[in-house]
Amino acid sequence: MSKPNRPEITTPEPLSGEDTAELSLRPQRLAEFIGQPKVKEGLKIAIDAALNRREPLDHVLLYGPPGLGKTTLAMLMAREMGANIRVTSGPVLEKPGDLVRELTSLRGGDVLFIDEIHRLRPIIEEFLYPAMEDYRIDVRLSEGPHAQMISMPVEPFTLIGATTRFGLLTPPMRTRFGIIQRLDFYPVEQLAFIISRSSEILGVECTTEGAYEIARRSRGTPRVANRLLRRVRDYAQVRADGVIDVAVADAALRMLDVDESGLDEMDTRVIRSLIEQFGGGPVGLNTLAVSIGEDAGTLEEVYEPFLIQNGFLMRTPRGRVATTRAYTRFGYTPPITLENGEALRQSTLFDA
Ligand code: ADP
Repeated sequence: MSKPNRPEITTPEPLSGEDTAELSLRPQRLAEFIGQPKVKEGLKIAIDAALNRREPLDHVLLYGPPGLGKTTLAMLMAREMGANIRVTSGPVLEKPGDLVRELTSLRGGDVLFIDEIHRLRPIIEEFLYPAMEDYRIDVRLSEGPHAQMISMPVEPFTLIGATTRFGLLTPPMRTRFGIIQRLDFYPVEQLAFIISRSSEILGVECTTEGAYEIARRSRGTPRVANRLLRRVRDYAQVRADGVIDVAVADAALRMLDVDESGLDEMDTRVIRSLIEQFGGGPVGLNTLAVSIGEDAGTLEEVYEPFLIQNGFLMRTPRGRVATTRAYTRFGYTPPITLENGEALRQSTLFDA
């Protein structure tokens, strides 16, 4: 069986102190943003139309797992619109006053980016609705049913919201976005391209094969790809002649205990639990979630998509099932599987 992973290195969340390193690798123009062709095309059309009409861009919601480029896209959109961007996040906006401060500091056409928008408190959401719809803030002057309200105008702006948990957004919040785009994990070729581009910026030579070797282990996620590239670069400089080729990339990633499929600690827990506690399934989403100490929504929206896309887990009408690939990956013998993906158990053989 393989060695335990270093939990941190393949996490799609930013690690502390990584901001500066990421900043230099962020694409500066929409054309430099690799992959996600459908998302890019949709946004480009909306941007060109808004520029033509000389109006602010419609409110945009970007959703998908962490590290896929939501913040990057928000920044690129602001730049393409020739607008300023203010960056904040759901948990940071604690009091209505915090939101009012952000809104009143915007100039016409500016972008307000709210990361983790699913974590906005309901009271803040209530303030945000009239701002999004009519560019005004309603302030209640006293308490009670006959309380007086005053309305303050704000400059026409674009709200760009980002979330990893689309399912947690309230329906009234969702309906206020004119443009909703989902980001998907990146195929290996695109990640290799991102790695090549980043290596040029970092000033390190990386062969195409070397880039592919890193890409395969990057969990479909540009943030992970760039992080692995930086670690491999260190290795290449200290242990090799500074050039990243397949052999150097492979040796470095082995040394760092990076999983060959890019699985992180949580992915590993999900699959192991499915196999070791539930005989490979089928098991219900809630039961599986409890066994790994996560809530069902996070498991479904954050962890499962990668495992499904990469053939480790299947959703069947009766529950989650581990695939043959999942069994072999963790050194177990896969059971005989039926066409619907469920395991044929010994008892079933005798019962028949
Ligand atoms: P998110 O907001 O979805 O968590 P970010 O926008 O912060 O993700 O992206 C994480 C890092 O990955 C950024 O530093 C950026 O350089 C890189 N990145 C993301 N998407 C792309 C892309 N399509 N092309 C090139 N680099 C990308």
